[in-house]
Amino acid sequence: MTKQVAIIGGGPAGLMAAEVLSAAGISVTVYDAMPTFARKFLLAGKSGLNITHAEDFARFAERFGNASSRLRPALDAFTPDDVRQWAAELGTETFIGTSGRVFPKVMKASPLLRAWLKRLETQDVTLKTRHRWTGFDADGYRFTTPDGEITIRPDAALLSLGGASWPRLGSDATWVPWLTDQGTKVHALQPANCGFDVGWSEIFVERFAGAPLKSVSTTSDAGTYPGEFVISKHGIEGSLVYAHSAALRDRLLRDGKADLAVDLMPGRTRDRLARDLARQDAKASFSNRLRKGAGLDGVKAALLRERSPDANRLTPEKLAELIKALPIPVLKPRPIAEAISSAGGIAWSDIDERYMLKSRPGLFAAGEMLDWEAPTGGYLLTACFATGRTAARGIQDWLSDR
Ligand SMILES: Cc1cc2nc3c(=O)[nH]c(=O)nc-3n(C[C@H](O)[C@H](O)[C@H](O)COP(=O)(O)OP(=O)(O)OC[C@H]3O[C@@H](n4cnc5c(N)ncnc54)[C@H](O)[C@@H]3O)c2cc1C
Repeated sequence: MTKQVAIIGGGPAGLMAAEVLSAAGISVTVYDAMPTFARKFLLAGKSGLNITHAEDFARFAERFGNASSRLRPALDAFTPDDVRQWAAELGTETFIGTSGRVFPKVMKASPLLRAWLKRLETQDVTLKTRHRWTGFDADGYRFTTPDGEITIRPDAALLSLGGASWPRLGSDATWVPWLTDQGTKVHALQPANCGFDVGWSEIFVERFAGAPLKSVSTTSDAGTYPGEFVISKHGIEGSLVYAHSAALRDRLLRDGKADLAVDLMPGRTRDRLARDLARQDAKASFSNRLRKGAGLDGVKAALLRERSPDANRLTPEKLAELIKALPIPVLKPRPIAEAISSAGGIAWSDIDERYMLKSRPGLFAAGEMLDWEAPTGGYLLTACFATGRTAARGIQDWLSDR
């Protein structure tokens, strides 16, 4: 008898598991609540689809914080090179950008997704959209479908329901209480790769919301990174903020406060800035002294004044110090619905090496619903693909014993 596997959640993790299982001759049905599959993957394509990263693999595999060692076997089995090879086989050639990030040459996700779904159909995978999993029913899984409620009893199932960011694309984390009721520990889902609220003055927001701070560097417990970020209506956002978001979020939780230190002029040392500022005419306006002495104007000068209204009274040395490390106190992360990804999820202690839930034999989990996080840079998708594949191998292994 052909074994039946249900994949619940048709994002990158679920589709990858479906590919592996169907290639092994297992009968697979993928269920998704939404009218189409992999909406978040498609949205990721709007910013070019950073599908993986080309840095040294040992470094790549350490990007997942505390979860790195648990993820390692899955990443070893599906490396960034494998991701590129897999995409190429589906007709999507990739290239390495200047930062080492890897993108499809077409800079979008739709051709890859189309080819992928076609491959799944060719491998006889049954694809069911508008099928929303609504919880357990003794040994089965309940769904609402356009034709009413159904309960399925597959030989094994995979949950690949994603985290809690951008819920309108499908991953709304309604699964959390259903799993905890089964005795599976789920660490609270929290925003990752997210912006932060800052207590800006009204006038600053009016004038500068949407303005990018280019060529700066920022420091937090996560380290120092160069790049750019954006002043938002609520605070700060953008890739350079996301690089610090886990560190800022964790420090806020621990200490109730956290600062992002901004170097507004990374190309000049503090001493050089102090000398350049000291040379300015003391009678000149503060704006002119900043512009001529430190090369600061526009949003950079405004940010300095916003954070330090008395900066004009500082000595050149103190002013240079501030320009090199302007603290921006963050109040809280933006809501998880706006985040790029989620931290938290199913505890590693509650799944085995095959990605099977210890509390419910025959039920596996993969993708962002597991307890790991990583910066942006293609790490997220790679880990979703890799865990989807490893969970599929786990299912195969488990079914072969039955
Ligand atoms: C704006 C944005 C840009 C991004 N860009 C990148 C990028 O460039 N590179 C990168 O590596 N990562 C990126 N990511 C993150 C990446 O898209 C996610 O980490 C990845 O999609 C997670 O895959 P997943 O399969 O675990 O879950 P998801 O992609 O969230 O898929 C989960 C699926 O489960 C379905 N589902 C949920 N609940 C139910 C239910 N009850 N019943 C049935 N189906 C259900 C959902 O409809 C969804 O289709 C981006 C994310 C966002 C929001």
